[in-house]
This record gives sequence, C-alpha cells and structure tokens, in this order.
Amino acid sequence: MSVNTESGAQQLEWQATRAANWLIDLVFPPCCGHCGRVDFRFCDCCRRKLALIALDISARSVENLDGLCATGPHRGLLQDALQAFKYEGATGLAGALATRLCAALQRQSWPIDLVVPVPLFADRLQERGYNQSQLLSQLVAETLDINSSAEWLARIRGTRRQARLSQSERHMNVKDAFSASARVNGLSVLLIDDVVTTGSTLRECAGALRAQGASAVFALTVSHS
Ligand SMILES: [Zn+2]
Repeated sequence: MSVNTESGAQQLEWQATRAANWLIDLVFPPCCGHCGRVDFRFCDCCRRKLALIALDISARSVENLDGLCATGPHRGLLQDALQAFKYEGATGLAGALATRLCAALQRQSWPIDLVVPVPLFADRLQERGYNQSQLLSQLVAETLDINSSAEWLARIRGTRRQARLSQSERHMNVKDAFSASARVNGLSVLLIDDVVTTGSTLRECAGALRAQGASAVFALTVSHS
C-alpha cells in the first residue's frame, strides 16, 4: 500500500532535472564512490563487496522509540555506498541496502504493522529527486509483506543538514519538524532511515507518530555513526 501524490508539474520538473544530470554525466563521467573507477556511481565490483559485508547489528536506546538498531558502523564501503546512494543518485544500491535492513529486522522480534520512511522536506526532495529512505522502506515493506506509507509522516518545515551540526544544534534543528497522520492510531510503526547519529531525527519522528496514537515505534537504519 503506497499512495502517489506527485503532481504533473512536479514530475515534469524532475524529468528536466534528470535530463540535465544526464548531460552533466556526458561531459563529466561519474566514477565509483568507493574505488574511483570511471563510468559508474558505484561499480559492480564494489556492489558485490557491499553484499558481502556481514551484519554488525547495534542497538541503541533513544527517547520515544521502543527499539532502534543499525546494520553496521558508518565507515568504509558501507559509508561510501550510503554517500553515493543519498547524494550521487546511485539509487541502484537500494536493493543491496534494503536486503541488509530485512536481514537485521528478521533478527528482531518487533511486531510491525506499518513501515514509514523518515521524510524529506519538499525542497530537499525536489533538489534530490528521490527520498533515499523511502526507496529503502518500500523495498523492505514489499520483501516482508508489510504495509508502507510515505504519506503518513511529513516534514512540515525545512531543516539544516544534521551532519554539520553539534548535538544540541541537531536537537533544536528537528524539534517539532514532523507531523503524522491520524491514520497511524493504534499501529506499531517501523521508521526507516539511512544513518543514525544522535537519534534526534528519529526521536522527533517517533514523537509525532505517538502524538497521533501509534501504539509502538521502532527504528531501523543502515548504519550508525
Ligand atoms: Zn568501485
């Protein structure tokens, strides 16, 4: 279950962005985000190695969350893959990363009714052309046959990139930045994101879901830093 509310105008803008990116790639060919080989955002060789990285699940306690775990530390190949996936358009990595998430989730005993990605604000979504966490949550939900919705949790104001902020700045940056639909009432929700650092974003998302009556909120990320 997922709802597509892209307007025709948005789709045209994204198509124009993709066409511009194609031209830029023609003049400046992309190279692998890990080994530097020219022609691929993330080459097949590194993609195969990515699938071989063992799970190194770590759990963390964060306010508003009934459980939080990541599939490995944010370094090396996993870090480079997430960088390419999030910022360089390497959306083809979604499958390998979602496979890690599914494997980690199957080791938890979390009862999940609904999978929800950490949302982007509209301007960031337009700039990037996709929400990396939404791609992951769709694949996880499809693989494990769980409902998913990217519509039931929204980022209601713009926020700065968390990576450049101190811990206290991160907290203020995302405070009250999310709003959930009343349709999460009574549901146990799994939040999906690419990386967790302090957990500020996940805590705020979970707070918004709980405010609308979510019975439990868990969170799963590809990496932790
Ligand atoms: Zn490579």
